[in-house]
Amino acid sequence: MAATASTCSRIYLLINDGSPRNETIEFAKSASPEEIRAGLLAAAEIGGEPKGAIVKVSTKDGVLLPVSVDGLTPNSEDNRYILNVKKDSLIKNDAASAVMSPEIGTANLDLSALKATLKSLEADLDGLTEKKGQLANIPTQHTPKRAVKRVSQIDPRYMSQPKYVFTDETIKYLKTPTFDPWQWQENEMLALLEFMFVELGVVDEFKIDIPVLRKFLQAVKDGYNANPFHNFRHCFCVTQMMYGILHTTKVVEKLTPADKLILLAACVGHDLDHPGFNNAYQVNARTDLAIIYNDVSPLEMHHCAVLFTILKHPDTNIMSNIPDSTYRDIRKGIIRGILATDMAKHADLLSQMKKYADEGFKYSDAEQKSCLLQMIIKCADVSNEVRPPDVAEPWVDCLLEEFFEQADHEKAAGLPFAPFMDREKVTKAGAQVGFIGFVLIPLYELMARVLDNMDPIITPVKQALAYYKELQEKEKAAATGGK
Ligand SMILES: [Zn+2]
Repeated sequence: MAATASTCSRIYLLINDGSPRNETIEFAKSASPEEIRAGLLAAAEIGGEPKGAIVKVSTKDGVLLPVSVDGLTPNSEDNRYILNVKKDSLIKNDAASAVMSPEIGTANLDLSALKATLKSLEADLDGLTEKKGQLANIPTQHTPKRAVKRVSQIDPRYMSQPKYVFTDETIKYLKTPTFDPWQWQENEMLALLEFMFVELGVVDEFKIDIPVLRKFLQAVKDGYNANPFHNFRHCFCVTQMMYGILHTTKVVEKLTPADKLILLAACVGHDLDHPGFNNAYQVNARTDLAIIYNDVSPLEMHHCAVLFTILKHPDTNIMSNIPDSTYRDIRKGIIRGILATDMAKHADLLSQMKKYADEGFKYSDAEQKSCLLQMIIKCADVSNEVRPPDVAEPWVDCLLEEFFEQADHEKAAGLPFAPFMDREKVTKAGAQVGFIGFVLIPLYELMARVLDNMDPIITPVKQALAYYKELQEKEKAAATGGK
């Protein structure tokens, strides 16, 4: 051990991406900066030595350290360096650039100018990311619990690659809205998503090859950015909650395989390549997405286009064995499902659903069923408060962090900013009381008029409202000095 200590440096890292985790690397004291950089990229699980990748190591106080033997002095487990790796947007984001290619109807745009703009936006985002280490309650501090045992083993059908085998207990848990998504590593979430596709019968029905499904899910995962909130774990949460709602309310028994594939694909793809800045920003800052989509739901349009760009590739096309007419219906359903997640459409969708509920909901009516699928996706998208409080609360911090970063950027750029994103005005309790009271409860109560057994979904949301109201009162009392 003494010999190792004298010739090697051991560095403890916190990898700051969609699934923050600890890593340890060692390098020889004679290592070149290139060798250290390669080690850091490996720690961040980024293969292929991407030339444009920006590798940044900083202290917890946000001080950047040179990537060299002298810069990265040995540290301790309690005082980890924070590793941020940002792949060059133009190298990484072939899905996004495919969306912007002339092939999909942007023939007259000056692509090089657009790419330069994207690059500068990327640099701005990078600057904002640096602040993360200084903020309190960031998601990286969440310590996952390990409540459910997992068994990983080689499945004889896929001798060449490991396959997760989940216990009956885990599978039962996966079908509930109380599932804790913080416990799982990225590969485990991928395996759980694969399980949902198989269990809902779409793999058999649509003759999806398992290796293609895995590559599809991997491409979807890679298509999510390391935002505080809109990241791959959020994608997993939404898909799992949709799955939990299907089983809890037993609506799964009334849906066709095509309905189930629409729900699965729309949920996994619904926030693909989210830049961490919302639609209002896209429009106000006149971003490329706003230009391409003429200010109409630019983000949701983009998420959907990225999903279908992944599906265009033969290696990741899980729909290659679906007959054309069925494919057209499924594509239409997925597009409607993803576009429904734009909160600007919330009131219209709710009043449409209310009309169907008033008339007596009919599963046999294609329009009504489509509306129901959109509503289920919406319910899942905003469902964090359905989960137990210790699972739900970190998501509020994540969302506020993303909002605050946006408003900070808007203030600096002289753009309009929303009061609900302003770190000087928003309190966690105030934000949640409004959102739960005005958005969640009316949404879930309306769904309870159409779906059976919605109580396991509504009850925790009402408890969360009571909790945040109490917290809000305490904050008010503290602000007025208890008078
Ligand atoms: Zn979402």
